[in-house]
Amino acid sequence: MPRKDGRGPRWGGGPGSGRGGRGGGCKGRPAQGASSGLLKQARNRNVAQVDADKCTGCGMCEAICAAKAITVGDTASVDQALCTGCGMCIPECPNEALTLKR
Ligand code: SF4
Ligand code: SF4
Repeated sequence: MPRKDGRGPRWGGGPGSGRGGRGGGCKGRPAQGASSGLLKQARNRNVAQVDADKCTGCGMCEAICAAKAITVGDTASVDQALCTGCGMCIPECPNEALTLKR
C-alpha cells in the first residue's frame, strides 16, 4: 500500500507500543478492594430521597432515571443501592418531592 504522507502506521506492536507489557489500567486492582470501595462510596455519596407527603406518583422521576433506581407505586421510592446521585430526577418532579441527601 502506498504511503500518502511519507509516514508509516503508528500502530503495529513494535518496541514501545505498549503491547504485552503492563496489561491495562483496569488490572491490578483486587476485586475485594473494589467491593469494599464501592460500599464505602455508597455510604458517602448523595442519593435521591422522596418526600412521600409531596409525591403524587406521577412517574416523571421514574422515566428520567437512567439508573432505574426509582419505582413508582402510590408514591415514588428510590433504591439507594442503584441511585448514583446524578440529580437528574430532582428538577423533573413537579411537586418538589425529591431531594439529594447523603
Ligand atoms: S439521583 Fe439520578 S440515579 Fe438517583 S434516583 Fe435520581 S435520576 Fe436516578
Ligand atoms: S416526579 Fe415527584 S411527584 Fe412524580 S412520582 Fe417522582 S417524586 Fe413523585
